[in-house]
Amino acid sequence: MSESEKRVLVTGGAGFIGSHLCDALLKKGYKVVCLDNLVTGDRRNIAGALENDAFSFEQADVCDPFDFDIDFVFHMASPASPVDYHAMQVETMRANSLGTLNCLELAKRRECRMLLASTSEVYGDPQISPQDESYFGHVNPVGPRSCYDEGKRCAEALCKAYEREAGLDLVIVRIFNTYGPRMRENDGRVIPNFVCQAFDEKPLTIYGDGSQTRSFCHVSDMVRGLMLAMFRPESGGQVINLGNPNEMRVIDLAGRIRQKISSASDMEFEPLPQDDPLQRKPDISRAMSMLGWAPEVDVERGLDDVISWFRENR
Ligand code: UDP
Repeated sequence: MSESEKRVLVTGGAGFIGSHLCDALLKKGYKVVCLDNLVTGDRRNIAGALENDAFSFEQADVCDPFDFDIDFVFHMASPASPVDYHAMQVETMRANSLGTLNCLELAKRRECRMLLASTSEVYGDPQISPQDESYFGHVNPVGPRSCYDEGKRCAEALCKAYEREAGLDLVIVRIFNTYGPRMRENDGRVIPNFVCQAFDEKPLTIYGDGSQTRSFCHVSDMVRGLMLAMFRPESGGQVINLGNPNEMRVIDLAGRIRQKISSASDMEFEPLPQDDPLQRKPDISRAMSMLGWAPEVDVERGLDDVISWFRENR
């Protein structure tokens, strides 16, 4: 079967990463079914895709039963920013438990490969750095982030249960902090917050003293990695970190964004949210050796891209 005949389901396909993934799949000639209930996704993200006959959109909840004649499943659906999942705790757990079960049942019926979009949050507030895939994590099961962290850990465990019991062909990708066009201004994540605060000459809100670190990956690199993880045969059964290992302190990120926008914003220090991880940096050796993947967009170019997108689209 040629690629143009292959059909791919993307749950959460109207979200930030999901919609870029749909665009990239369409560009490669796949037929794409996007399933999204639009709680955090946005129809504007798929406006371009909707003009393509190879794209179809189903507005539905991944927790309700569904069936599609497809060859691959990307399960991307879940609130993913701390502000969103805090506001939708039960919904987040449902998308990652019931939603994952529904995707796995579909993959079983259709005998097709499924990729689970998991997260670096399965490592919690890590006690080792960088984090490689063998690290079990340091997660508070009853803390404010647990709906997401434990939801994704449950999703991973479900994948492994189906793999062992039913022989499904599954790939788990742990996505580290990702940024780029189509992030929501109000999703609460650090890059949209700082960029929009800097535009408005409002204080940049630094949580804690800003010494906590993150490693930011541009969405174009992430989507390329997701596609390699899905379509390379050797990734079957694997858990793979995807992210940019270029670690930086939150306060330095604030400084760079302020400088790029030539903003007169101050910095305002607010309490560090409970269980906010102090460090995060992916070990991407596995993705490099297995997929031949490495990020290509450095943070200077990536920040310019996201800043110009917010300038034109907010
Ligand atoms: N953060 C911050 N100011 C903000 C938003 C976030 O200092 O306005 C910090 C947050 O405490 C965390 C980091 O930036 O340490 C990344 O936060 P984000 O919500 O983007 O994602 P996380 O990696 O925590 O899931």
